[in-house]
Order: sequence, then C-alpha cells, then structure tokens
Amino acid sequence: MPDKPLRNPCNLCHAVRAILKRPKTGQQLCKECFFHVFETEIHNTIVDNKLFRSGDRVAIGASGGKDSTVLAYVMKLLNDRYSYGLDLVLLSIDEGITGYRDDSLETVKRNRDQYRIPLLIISYKDLYGWSMDDIVKEIGRKNNCTFCGVFRRQALDRGAIMLNVDHIVTGHNADDIAETVLMNILRGDLPRLQRCTSIITNDTSDDSSGLETSKILRSKPFKYTYEKEIVMYAYFKKLDYFSTECIYSPNAYRGHARVFLKDLEAIRRTSIVDIIHSGEALSASVQANESTKLPTMSTCTRCGYISSNELCKACLLLEGLNKGLPQLGIGHSSKIRRMHEAAHALQATPSSPASPLASLSTADGAAARDERGKLVTHIRDLNRLETMPTLQAV
Ligand code: SF4
Ligand code: ZN
Repeated sequence: MPDKPLRNPCNLCHAVRAILKRPKTGQQLCKECFFHVFETEIHNTIVDNKLFRSGDRVAIGASGGKDSTVLAYVMKLLNDRYSYGLDLVLLSIDEGITGYRDDSLETVKRNRDQYRIPLLIISYKDLYGWSMDDIVKEIGRKNNCTFCGVFRRQALDRGAIMLNVDHIVTGHNADDIAETVLMNILRGDLPRLQRCTSIITNDTSDDSSGLETSKILRSKPFKYTYEKEIVMYAYFKKLDYFSTECIYSPNAYRGHARVFLKDLEAIRRTSIVDIIHSGEALSASVQANESTKLPTMSTCTRCGYISSNELCKACLLLEGLNKGLPQLGIGHSSKIRRMHEAAHALQATPSSPASPLASLSTADGAAARDERGKLVTHIRDLNRLETMPTLQAV
C-alpha cells in the first residue's frame, strides 16, 4: 500500500511535517528548515554587506536578553560553519539596575560558559561613578533612558578599546530598526534617520545634537531579522536567555511606535522590512542633501572621547548629575549650551537668585552634589580601568 501523503508538509524539504509558520514570509516549515533559513539569511546579510574581514576581533554586545543571546549563538555558529576567521568576545555593560541587570548578567555568564566565548563586564559605577539606580534616585523616572543610552554607547566603546576589538555587533533586530525609523520620521529627525538605517557605522551617538564617532565599527547583523523569528529560534534551540523588561523602561514614545508597527505587521507581514527599506531610501536622499553635512569632529576636552562639541554628551550629563542639575545635557544643543553657560555662572555665584537654574537645585541636590563631587566621575585614563576591582575579564 502506498504511504499516506504527509499532512501539512514543510514547504522546503517536503519530507517532514511543518511545525511553524515563518512570521517573515508565511512559509510553513519544519524545525530544521527554519533553523537553516534563519541562519542562512543572517550569513547572507553579513556577506552581502561585507561586515567583517578575516582576522577581525569582534565584540558581541551581550545583555542576556533574547536578541543578544541568539546573536552570540549564531555568530559563533556561522564563524565556525563558514570560517569567517573572527575572534569573538562578549562585552556586557552593567548599568547598575538592581533586580534586572544583575540577574540578566548571570545569564550572560552562563552563555560565556555554554558558547565558550570570553566575557568582559564593565559597569557605569566604575566608568562614571553613578549606577542607574543612583541616577533614578536623583532624577526620577523621567529622562533616565537618555542618561542610560548615552552612557551605554560610550561604555561599549570603552569596553571595546579595553578588549582591543575592531568591531562591535549588537542584537538590534528588524522590529527595533523599523520602530526607530518610524520615530525619526514622526520627529522629522533626518540625521538620526540616516544613522538608524545604516547596517554598519562608526557612529556611537543617537543624538543629533552631539554626534560622536569612533574608530570602532558597529554593526547589526539582525537588521533584517524579525523579532518573532528570534524568539522562535531561541525557543526551538532551547537557548538560555533572560526575558524580563527593565524596571525603568518608560519609553512611551517608542511604545506607541511599537504598537503601531505590530498592528501594521498583523495586516501585512512585510510591513517591518518595507519600513526599513523606506528608511533606507529616505536616508539616501538625505545623504545627497548638502545641508545635512556632518559636523567636524574633535575630542572632548574633559575625557578625550571623540565629540563634535567641547564636552562629549556623557561628560555633559555627568556634569549635570554632579552639580545637582540633571537637566543639563538633555535636549537640543543650543539649549544645552545655554544651560552649560548658566551652570558655570551658577558655580561662580552659587546663591544667585536670578539664575534660571536655581529652581532645579534643591538643598538635597546640593548635598548630594557635594558628596558625589568627591567620587570621581569619569575616566581620563583607560589604563586605570584595568586595575578596577569589578572588571570581570575572563
Ligand atoms: Fe537603560 Fe532605559 Fe534601557 Fe532600562 S529601559 S536599560 S533605563 S535605556
Ligand atoms: Zn567626555
């Protein structure tokens, strides 16, 4: 008797029953074929965009979340399978968020052992003298992600220098990029739109008012990888990742963009990649426009980090924190400059009632400022870091 036809066969191998429907294409696939297409698409993205050269030392930005865990796993797998010749390391930033980052870093440590990739963890507390817990205590739950984002980008760069890497890869996926494209279009922020759609940059800044570039390249191998597929991959591969949201995550604007994007995706699954392609096309026309020339780069006069302004964004934010003026450094460059000048004036005449910043400084703030002013805040000499006790190089 002939075999009964297979019910619901995999659209690729036709030999096994499909167990999932690919969110990106709607194809019904078996587990092995899904793994194969998922990994091959990422390999093609890497090769088509010439992300790496053989011999590159590459740091994988690892948070313990699904994206970076899958990224570490897939980078190792593809590096072995296709002999990229990369020297991989994991780089984690400890923002100092109790109940969130401390737990997720335990996951990264397990990943280090599971994938046998060395790990370096550096903390905000060591780099800046402030943990995110300290910052939120000082400034509340508003703007905390601005501090965190600026500090993280610079911390990744500093970690990369310590590790002597050429390149940092991050787990930003297609959904993240499409959300950022939408947000930048809604804000009319064309320079940022241009940067968010590039798969490879030497640009560490997410702020159009203070562009900072670095010698270390950054890339996003998951630029075209759907978030749902990353979750599926992690699930079927039984990868060990941490799935709790940050306790300080208020980013309401991004939340709206995310909900909107999910609604669009439910109607048309190609929406995510279509938005990325629209962002790329808009970026190309922005690039052709003379008026969006990038500012001239120099270095921060305080810490030596590359910056287009006198002070890099991290130093400006730290100055605000240490002076009890956390608003300093938040917002646009002209406003920042005015506040910076006003802060200097305030320093010269601390009790001046006429100062526009006086209302920002409370008695408690002043006490905290004196206390924290003693704890140094920033790294002038990277060599110092190597002797810091919480550095966990393996
Ligand atoms: Fe930092 Fe905000 Fe992300 Fe939390 S949600 S890790 S505070 S940027
Ligand atoms: Zn600086």
